[in-house]
Amino acid sequence: MSHFTYQDGVLHAERVPLSRIATEHGTPTYVYSKAQLLENFAGYARPCAGRDALVCYAMKANSNLAILDLLARQGAGFDIVSGGELLRVIAAGGDPGKVIFSGVGKTAAEIALALEKGILCFNVESIPELHRINEVAGRMGKRAPISLRVNPNVDPKTHPYIATGLKASKFGVAFSDALATYRTAAELPHLDVVGIDCHIGSQLLDDAPLLEALDKLIELIDALAAEGIHLHHVDVGGGLGIDYGTGEDSPVPISHYVERVFARVDAWRAEKHGGRPIKVIFEPGRSIVGNTGVLLMSVEFLKPGEEKNFCVVDAAMNDMARPTLYQAWMDVKPVVQRDSSAVTYDLVGPVCESGDWLARDRALAVEPGDVLAMMAAGAYGFTMASNYNTRGRAAEVLVDGDQVHMIRKRENPADLFALETIVKA
Ligand SMILES: *Cc1c(COP(=O)(O)O)cnc(C)c1O
Repeated sequence: MSHFTYQDGVLHAERVPLSRIATEHGTPTYVYSKAQLLENFAGYARPCAGRDALVCYAMKANSNLAILDLLARQGAGFDIVSGGELLRVIAAGGDPGKVIFSGVGKTAAEIALALEKGILCFNVESIPELHRINEVAGRMGKRAPISLRVNPNVDPKTHPYIATGLKASKFGVAFSDALATYRTAAELPHLDVVGIDCHIGSQLLDDAPLLEALDKLIELIDALAAEGIHLHHVDVGGGLGIDYGTGEDSPVPISHYVERVFARVDAWRAEKHGGRPIKVIFEPGRSIVGNTGVLLMSVEFLKPGEEKNFCVVDAAMNDMARPTLYQAWMDVKPVVQRDSSAVTYDLVGPVCESGDWLARDRALAVEPGDVLAMMAAGAYGFTMASNYNTRGRAAEVLVDGDQVHMIRKRENPADLFALETIVKA
């Protein structure tokens, strides 16, 4: 069930009309639904109950402290990709002991911070990274828990920019090099080899590629066990897609996917793994926060043209990069429905780039001053926002029933240049 619905012709977040939020807080503004967030998380957490499993929310999708706090209170762990994200987890009251650290370019300072805070595991992506973690751990008199991110070479059938598990990808260790890399890791004195992980891509509507990747990880766990390297966890990555409203996406429900992962793991444990326990880790990002948020924007001008009609709004590519970055199709709905007939528009922002578009060829009945909602904007929306054109980033609010909470104030221009200094000759 969506928590963004029309009630008497006005689009609501839970019980709050989005028109009210636009009036009280201005636009562009990101609006999140707490109920939707918790429902999505429960899709993972419910089938995990009573099992040795951990849901590590991939917080690069949306890292607002209020969102992290809500998930931490539900027992979530976090998948981070920088030292800054680790500090966010801690600031939100999350448990560093449930944090896994992914990414191809971890610095020595970030590794030291993660060791000091006691994270659950480093997801290692290369041999030089193994050596760096070993060296930093040795210097600190610690042992670093590590997992190797293996590239299972499974085609996720998604956009090339969000496919990460193919041979040509910068991510992970090639499947054919995995055993040798594990042997190297096992010989390094300051590492504990504890797991295996993968992450093959994003916005996958079908779970078949995800399950195929899991099978390949299991194959490696067996091969490693035969050499006396015993892993304690298998991390299946993230990547499950959401419905963007194209009429063609119907992603597999979260809980069905999670149950299918457990069915495979259980069958393998019974048959080949001697019934030994193994923790299962999930790293979902988009499927937790994507349909949790909308981006509100106001229509500034309508600009009819010979070939195209433009609807100029006050949100832009700096607020929402997905259309221009991935040619992503995002649904746009009027907050207050009008009876007038629709005209086909390209929805564009004020930023000085031809790439500054948010949606193309949309039939909309709109007038200047109307408020529009870009749907399913909760993932990779605010976190990818920039200050290009000295535009302050949008405000973020969280709706809980009939309550509206400001969770990030709109940035002022003065905030944007506060760190800059003029050089007096
Ligand atoms: C981005 C990322 C995720 C989350 O991907 P989604 O498609 O948003 O679920 C998980 N794991 C890693 C390593 C990532 O980089």
